[in-house]
Amino acid sequence: MRYVRAREVHLDFHTSEHIHGIGQDFDADRFGDTFKNAHVNSVTVFAAGHHGWLYYPSQLHPKQVHPQLTRPDLLREQVQALHARDIKAPVYVTVQWSRHLAATHPEWLIRKANGAHEGGPLHEPGFYQSLCVNTGYAAYLRDLVTEISGYLGDDLDGWFFDIVGIRPCWCAACRREMLEYGVNLNDEEAVRAFASQTINRFKREMSRHVRSLNPDATIFYNAGHVGPCTRESKDDYSHFEIESLPSGGWGYLHFPVAARYARALGLDVMGMTGKFHTSWGDFHSLKNQAALEFEVFRMLSYGCAASVGDQLEPRGALNPATYRLIGNVYKRVEEIEPWARPAKALTEAALVTPETPLREHALPETVMGAAQMFEELALQYDIIDPTMPFDKYKLVILPDDMTADDALQKKVDDYVAAGGAVLACARGGLNPDTGAYPACYGAKWHGPHRLFPDFILPEGPLADGLDAEGKYVIYMQGEEVTPDEGQAALSAVAPYFPREGLTFCSHRYTPAAPGNSYPVAVRNGKALLFSHPMFGQYRDNAPHWCKVLIGNAIRELLGAQLVTHNGPSTVTVSLLEQPEHSRYIAHVLHYIPVRKSATIDTIEEASPLDDVTLTLSLPRTVTKARLVPNGEELPVTNGRVTLPRTMGYAVVDLPYA
Ligand SMILES: [Zn+2]
Repeated sequence: MRYVRAREVHLDFHTSEHIHGIGQDFDADRFGDTFKNAHVNSVTVFAAGHHGWLYYPSQLHPKQVHPQLTRPDLLREQVQALHARDIKAPVYVTVQWSRHLAATHPEWLIRKANGAHEGGPLHEPGFYQSLCVNTGYAAYLRDLVTEISGYLGDDLDGWFFDIVGIRPCWCAACRREMLEYGVNLNDEEAVRAFASQTINRFKREMSRHVRSLNPDATIFYNAGHVGPCTRESKDDYSHFEIESLPSGGWGYLHFPVAARYARALGLDVMGMTGKFHTSWGDFHSLKNQAALEFEVFRMLSYGCAASVGDQLEPRGALNPATYRLIGNVYKRVEEIEPWARPAKALTEAALVTPETPLREHALPETVMGAAQMFEELALQYDIIDPTMPFDKYKLVILPDDMTADDALQKKVDDYVAAGGAVLACARGGLNPDTGAYPACYGAKWHGPHRLFPDFILPEGPLADGLDAEGKYVIYMQGEEVTPDEGQAALSAVAPYFPREGLTFCSHRYTPAAPGNSYPVAVRNGKALLFSHPMFGQYRDNAPHWCKVLIGNAIRELLGAQLVTHNGPSTVTVSLLEQPEHSRYIAHVLHYIPVRKSATIDTIEEASPLDDVTLTLSLPRTVTKARLVPNGEELPVTNGRVTLPRTMGYAVVDLPYA
């Protein structure tokens, strides 16, 4: 695998033509030294930004050079200042957003079905009038890349192509081609599928072009997400960067979901957050250091590289406060990096995602619920889509809405026959056309359970830890299932009547009625099915009992997890392995995002951890442990390691023989 540098800054420079003196305070040495002193070893620098202006002396498009640029060679000066300090400098080029081109090349605009362009009017702020790469714009971009490549010569390290997404388009070029292929222009999903092919073709052709000019250049296309939408074109990337600013609309749960999928695709992965209190363009703000620590250390804990977004102010001088903040965090990354990169994630399970490949921003709620729960349970897992191999995992999890066709059902059955374990909820694995679950479930489906909510009776090993005298509601509607080859593993009772019409009781649902219980989980050897949408339920309102039930199910199926801990549910533990050093590494994080405002979660301080014990069940025996980088030895007793008091982040080196 090809690895990128782990301590990057993504330096935005979307700069208005109405500001004078662009670049006039740029000082190459101060620029380079600021990054060097902040422990940065890669900076994405700007060739072309969203306003549509260029930051180098273009011969092809002299009128597009920023009209107020006082340093004609700003791009090359930046790259050379960075290279003089052994800092990489991939080049940023905007693709679908370019205000100047949107205003001057209306024939390149993406058109909605009604003929309007995207984004706001061209006489109002914003550069969100997207451009279509199925027009003459593709040739423009190819020529731009050729020119920049020649301009930088051997100083070109790579490319960051921004805003390269699936955008349904009814422009003249797209309509012509869709009619040729018989695409129904009134079918929005069909147009979207065509848009997906269009953007994948653009990436394929652009990567071929880039590689013909510079075979070693890194290549990344940004759509604000990496997921099933990326898989088909993954060979056109050198690595992935996961743009995910928790305070910028992504939240704190997007990164784990995207990163766990991206790393399973087999390329190096970089996480990207921002130094901003909110999001891009928030020039004069600083993220709380603890928040930046968590966001960056979490990337490292998954074996990912880190990138922090900043925006250079128009006159071209970096803000020292920003680089003190980034430096404080990257100094620790530099110290810990040897225990994170290169490394492979040590995993025991895979969550199969129903996420569509046709949308970049449509994370299924069930996957979000599962991810939240699994972080709390310290499960070591990847997220995969149904096309990816199951056999490297001991446990495969099919969430509530991960329905299956015949091929996927056969894949599940074959996997279980070969010794794999499957955990499914609700319609996970159900073929909606035949109304059947995979044979290995040993369970029959009878449609949605009409009388709900139902109330789980806490009996048997799945209910371990619940109060035996309680009943536990699952609010959301489940499925009616009966054991076939399998056995009932959990039962529930029904309410007196459904809450509808004249039959209702009290504020919420009707309580449990006396009567017979019925199965709500079926176990058949290595397959376990819950009839309820446990992950969707956890996403909705996080009932603790859902986590207990799923945690017990995982233990029943796996035997023991690779790692568990006795710390609070806000702790995350990620295991990495570095076979070349014969060691595992446990990355333990304790930062607690708080919703202290109406709009964003943030973290103001690291949280302490006192005497947390990790219980390990690793493939190879571990008899020694030490905290790194300080080297403090920790005793290992019967696979248990107890950490001394730590604040926020602790990394434990676990060598094996
Ligand atoms: Zn188009």
